[in-house]
Parts: sequence; C-alpha cells; structure tokens
Amino acid sequence: MTKQGRESAAGAAVHQFTEPAPATLICFSHLRWRFVFQRPQHLMSRFAATYRVIFWEEAVHPEGCATPALQIDEDEANGVTILTPALPRGLSPAEEDAALGALLDAQLASLPPVAVRWYYTPMMLPFSAHVAAECTVYDCMDELAAFKNPPAGLLDRERELLAAADVVFTGGSSLYEAKKDRHDNVHAFPSSIDVAHFGAARGAVAEPEDQARIVGPKLGFCGVVDERMDVDLLAALADAHDDWSIVVIGPVVKIDPAALPQRRNLHFLGARDYAELPAYMSGWDVALMPFALNEATRFISPTKTPEYLAAGLPVVSTAIVDVVRHYGALEAVRIAGTAEDFVTACEAAIAGRDDLTWREAADEQLARGSWSSTALSMGALIAVERATRDTVEAIVSPTRWPAAAVRHDVMVVGAGFAGAVMARQLAEAGFKVLVVDRRPHVAGNAYDRRDDAGLLIHQYGPHIFHTNSDDVFGYLSRFTQWRPYEHRVLADVRGQLVPMPINRTTLNMLYDAGLESDDDVEAFLAARAEPVEPIRTSADVVVSRVGRELYETFFRGYTRKQWGLDPSELDKAVTARVPTRTDTDDRYFTDKHQAMPADGYTRMFEAMLDHPSIELLLGVDYSQARDAYPHDHLVFTGPIDEYFGHRFGKLPYRSLQFRHETLEQEWLQPVAVVNYPDEAVPYTRITEYKHLTGDSAPATSLTYEYPSAEGDPYYPIPREENQALFKRYEALAIAERDVTFVGRLATYRYYNMDQVVGQALATARRLIPRLHAEKVEPLVGTAVAAA
Ligand code: FAD
Ligand code: UDP
Repeated sequence: MTKQGRESAAGAAVHQFTEPAPATLICFSHLRWRFVFQRPQHLMSRFAATYRVIFWEEAVHPEGCATPALQIDEDEANGVTILTPALPRGLSPAEEDAALGALLDAQLASLPPVAVRWYYTPMMLPFSAHVAAECTVYDCMDELAAFKNPPAGLLDRERELLAAADVVFTGGSSLYEAKKDRHDNVHAFPSSIDVAHFGAARGAVAEPEDQARIVGPKLGFCGVVDERMDVDLLAALADAHDDWSIVVIGPVVKIDPAALPQRRNLHFLGARDYAELPAYMSGWDVALMPFALNEATRFISPTKTPEYLAAGLPVVSTAIVDVVRHYGALEAVRIAGTAEDFVTACEAAIAGRDDLTWREAADEQLARGSWSSTALSMGALIAVERATRDTVEAIVSPTRWPAAAVRHDVMVVGAGFAGAVMARQLAEAGFKVLVVDRRPHVAGNAYDRRDDAGLLIHQYGPHIFHTNSDDVFGYLSRFTQWRPYEHRVLADVRGQLVPMPINRTTLNMLYDAGLESDDDVEAFLAARAEPVEPIRTSADVVVSRVGRELYETFFRGYTRKQWGLDPSELDKAVTARVPTRTDTDDRYFTDKHQAMPADGYTRMFEAMLDHPSIELLLGVDYSQARDAYPHDHLVFTGPIDEYFGHRFGKLPYRSLQFRHETLEQEWLQPVAVVNYPDEAVPYTRITEYKHLTGDSAPATSLTYEYPSAEGDPYYPIPREENQALFKRYEALAIAERDVTFVGRLATYRYYNMDQVVGQALATARRLIPRLHAEKVEPLVGTAVAAA
C-alpha cells in the first residue's frame, strides 16, 4: 500500500482523487443486494466513493445450468457491482466451495488488488479465506446462529471468521456485548438511518393507492416478516379493534405465508421499494414493532425504530433489549410487555396523535447518527488496520505463515490448563512444542484481564481455585504466588440473600427455625426429605436430602437455566457438587488449598508457557495450523467430537453468554458471587471481582452469566446418553496413535481446574517415555488416551 493510498483510505472521499485506481473492497453477503435497502446497501454505496465495491451474493442454482458462471449486475446509481454465482444443481458442499473459489479467483484477477474483505456471513469464508487483503472486516448485523434453520457449521465458521478478522463491527449494543470478548477489536455501530428520506413522510405526500383504499386508523409495520414476528400479537391487535387497520409491508420469508393470521382488518401488502416506504408511512397513525421475544430477537437492533421516528410516527414495541436501551426513554416509544399492554399502548398513541411535542427529543437523538458518519468512522478504523498490516499479519494471519515451517515434536491445541501443563511438561522433557489456540490469548477459560476501569476480571466467568491435591497446588506454585481467598456465595431468594450451599444459617434465615446444633438441622431436614432409591438424577440427590421445597427454592430453577434441562434429566453428579451442611460453615468449598493466583491466571499461564522450547500461535484454529506446521505428535484439548468432524453427531456442550459491566460505585454485593435460582431471572449469577482479586477502586466490575445452547463449548453435559456418545468418540481417540486427548472438552468431563491439571500431569507422565522411545525407534508405540 502506498502512502498516498493510505491517506486516501483514512481521509475517505477527500483524498480520493490521488488514488490512480481505487482498490477493491469485496463484500460477501447472505442478503441480496436487490432485496431490501438496509445496512449492507447503505454502507457499500458509501464505500463506493473510496473503493471499487464488489458485492458477492449467495449462489443461485438455475435449471439447466451445467457449468459454474457469474451473473454480473451493475448498480450504477450506487456504484456497486453485484456478482451472483450460478452453479449446477447437485454439487456437494465441498464441490460448491471449490467452484465458488475458482469463480472468485478468476474475477479478482481482472480487478485492482483487494484492500478489504468484508463479511456479512461467515459461511462465505471457506471459499474466500485465501484471498489476500489488507484488512478483513466482519460486520456482524445479526446473531445468525439464533435464526431459524441456521446453516450447518455456522458457529464454527464464525469462530474462524473472528480469528481471521482484523476488525469486527456489530449492528447494536447487545451484539457488541455478545462479540466483544471474542475479538480484541470490536466496535458497536448500531444501524443508522437516512433521516431525510423518511422525514418526507411528515410532509404532504400522496399515500400509495393500495393503502389509501384501506380505512380506519392505520397501524403499520415495515420490514421482513419472518420467525421474529409475533404473528399472534398481530392477530390480537386486529381482534382488539375492528375499526383499526393493521398494514404490514415487507416480504414474507422463512415462514409459510399460509400460516399468517387472516383477518378482515389485517393487510399483508408484500414488499415495496425503499423509495416508496415514506409514502406508505405517511398514511399511518402508529408504527409497530411486534417482535416475538426469543433467541432470534435477543440481539436485534432494528433500524425500523429510528426510521419510524424520522417518519414522524409514534412507536409501539415489544421489549426488544436494544429498543428499550436506545429508545425506551423517548416519549414517542412505548414498550409493551403483553398483548393487552400492546393494545393499550396503541390506543394511547392513537389518542395522542395530534400532540407532536415528542418529536424534538426524538429528532435530537436521530441527528446523532447517520449512515455517512457511520461509514466514515468505519473507514477510519479500516485505514488503521491497512496501515498497520505488516505488524499484525506476522502474528495472526495465515497468509504470512512461513512456507516451510520448522518441524515440532509436538503440537498442542489449546492454551488452557490442559494444553499449558502438557506443553510445559513436554518442553521440560526436551521436546520442541508448538501451542496453537484459536482464541487470541492464553489461559483458556481461566483467562483474566484488566478491563477499561483497570480492574482484573475473568473473561469467561469466575474461576476460583481450590484443591485437595498437594501435588497440583505445588506444581502451579512454580508459576505464581497466591492470594489467600475462601469463596462465599449467597443466593437471592425472593430478595433475601442467604448462604449457599444450604447450611444452618440458611435455614434459620428462611424459616426462622431457631436451629442450634447439627442434630437440630438433621432432624429439620429429615422431616422434609423424600427418600429416593436408587439416587440417579440431580433431582434425586437434592430431594432425598432436603425435600422438595428447598429443592425448588435453590436447585430446580437454577439448574433448568444453567443446563437447559430439568434436574431430573441430569446425572446426579451435577448437583452433588453442592453439599448441604448442618453446621454454619458458609464457605463454598472446603478444600485444603483455596487461593487465587496473586497476579491473575493469565500471568500464571504466561510463566508456565515461558520456556525456550515452547512457541505460541494464537488466534489460529487447529484446522488452519495442522498442515502448515508439521509435527510428530498432537495433543488435542478442544472438543473431541469436533476433532472427529462430528461423525457420530454433536456431543452437547452447554454454553454461556457473559455480560461484563462496571458500576461507578464501590461495591454491589457483600460477597463475590450471588446466585439467582429464580427461573424468571434470565441470568444465573452475578460475580463482583474485587472480592476475588483484592483490587481496590471506587468503581466495581461485574459479570452476569446467561446460559445458552449456542456459543463456545464450556460445560460437558453429564447425562447417560451423552456419555455413551462420548464413548464412541473415545474409541476413535484410542485408535489415534499419534494424538493424545486431554482436558475438559477432549475427555468430556465436568472437571474443575485442579482436576484438569492433575489429569494433564498424569497424561504427560505416561506420554513422555513413549515419545522418547519413538524418537529413538520411530515406529514403536501405542495410542495414549487420558485417564
Ligand atoms: P479450556 O480452558 O476450555 O481450554 C481449551 C482451549 O482450547 C481453549 O482456549 C480453546 O480456544 C482451545 N481450542 C479448542 N479447540 C481448538 C481448535 N480447534 N483450534 C485451536 N484452539 C482450540 N474450575 C474451577 O476449578 N473453579 C472454578 O471456579 C471454575 N469456574 C468456572 C466457571 C465457568 C463459567 C466455566 C466455564 C468453567 C469453570 N471452571 C472452574 C472450569 C475450568 O474452566 C476448566 O476446568 C478448565 O478451564 C479446563 O481447562 P482445559 O484446558 O481443559 O479447557
Ligand atoms: N446449583 C443450583 N443452585 C445453586 C448452585 C448450584 O441448582 O445455587 C446446581 C446447578 O445445577 C449447578 C450445579 O449445582 O450447575 C453445580 O454448581 P457449581 O457451583 O459447582 O457449578 P460451576 O458453575 O462451578 O460449574
């Protein structure tokens, strides 16, 4: 990149004339260009002032298509070239990717060099990952995985895209929170709108004829109609007022149009051009956001809200998080929790339609964001990446990997406890080790870092070290000093904070039971316990010890949230982790050693991996490193089913979403962790880190944990059927002569940190003599699977 070029990118259109031929920006999108005019179209048409913009769409499969070809469509008004691959039917996914890669390469050969690869969908990475670019952008506008029928492999592809991207943009703050811990350069850019375009609706515009024919107060929605729409709510609205007309403008996708409610006063007009929308809106009295609250809408940040406001319309919405967050304070936006509330809110909006005083505050908010300023800010971030390319690329980009990498004795996949201990032990035994992790940091799930407030937080939720093993504690003590810490947890029971695990104090607080001795507590519990024989499930364990009421208070809701399963569907080992005590010991753990690494886990891992025979490759997936870095033996600590291409089906792992937050107050809660067993509260617990770390500051940092089915694999799920599936994978693992599987994900065990360290030490003890023997006599040896 020339200096001139750099200035051109940073200064956007201002320096454009100095660039001889604009560099290429190629945008890979699952949304078609000529669908609805939304985020990709707004941004790409603006980037067309600086770049030669190519918009690559999903393939079509026309009848009779015998050879792959590209359909080329020039949108001259917006300066964008749209490429649509046409493929023969019946190709396998791998054949399709190969065909797409060939079409792409042929096309790029005739274009100026690619400066920017821009992705709306990770599913287009496989055939385009090899395209060299100065900056790779992931503009994440939806939580795609939460959509109905997400394509297979989407989450893996997204992980790869996050590893490959230089910068990540998100379409709203909820999405920002969901992605910000998965990449170190994430920026929230809520969708902007074209205020002038929609503002036309406030003036004297002729209402389109098909809508003008519809009578009565008009309540309108405009946008895609899919699984996010609460169609029952639309029907309820139509039923509530015969005299109202509900007008829905937009294409119906992914749901069967026949399944839409039919009412005399409910009109699905279909898709209309972007240019026509203000005219339609000009005829409405209220604008609607009738979205269902489900996984598919948890992260949306609908552009409709500001568009409606710009059109001068009051808005009634369900409680979409980002709508509440960004617009909930405006008088013009009413949030309704139930169908009845929604109807009432619409009535209020219609009754107040002549009062336009709300517009001032709404307009002020609208003025703060425009597509042009969004595009300029994004352009500046891209320019920084383009300018710093040389240094960045050397660390993370596959394009700069050495062509003939040095051979390592062992490649270790994963830099968590399992991987780091294995790497250290192998290095000390004289082997040359390469550690690869797809995350951009070491320490696996135990990773901690200083946040913007300067406080040490645990990126993947609270990690408290405890062990009864002198060996494990002694081993880790080689790499860290310790800060004594005994963990205490309170549970929020209808607003009262009581000790958890259940102990004498808990019972006295809840029942005013006046229990004074262990025997008193035993008798109290015995009167409630419902013996179960045999004890098989996580429900049995608790009910047989403390009875149904305490089970429901402390365990049922929490477990259902945490695991997405009823305790009766989980192995007894899960709730058996939490004892019930008859004394007043309110510590969560009673292990011999309880302490936190004095400078945090990450520092401890850095010390562990600091060895002349260990090299680190971060932000790179095993699938990318496997062939680029030759090695004699592999230690794999990722999910075992992933290693084997999920050939027997997916092993279930439970995931979590973390919401990190800093409050401008010294403390929030009396202990490090408060559990919320109530199923109505969406998170399971709140952690306040200063209790764990000993940091002191006027502010305090917290993490909320929201369990989820999708996302990074955190917890193997202890159930008989899952264990049976794991056993099938384990059989493959044992046959895999040159691979060792170790750790929580690779051996599918709900292990604490100390157990993983113990497992890794034992595995290394067995593996090292074998590898020494093989080095001398290369063909002798047997497979090793961790105990
Ligand atoms: P991980 O830490 O998961 O490390 C595996 C690494 O492999 C990851 O960094 C991953 O990115 C990498 N990887 C996977 N696949 C690939 C691939 N294909 N290519 C490249 N890299 C790959 N334990 C306790 O003792 N006390 C606690 O208080 C505690 N709290 C916890 C709280 C939460 C929310 C969670 C999720 C776990 C907690 N644990 C706790 C358990 C603890 O996190 C684990 O025991 C420990 O981290 C397991 O280490 P590991 O190395 O097996 O796995
Ligand atoms: N549990 C619960 N209520 C609580 C704490 C725990 O129901 O207040 C159950 C829940 O099923 C949880 C399990 O006990 O997953 C184990 O809890 P632990 O604190 O050991 O879980 P961790 O988060 O450490 O994996």
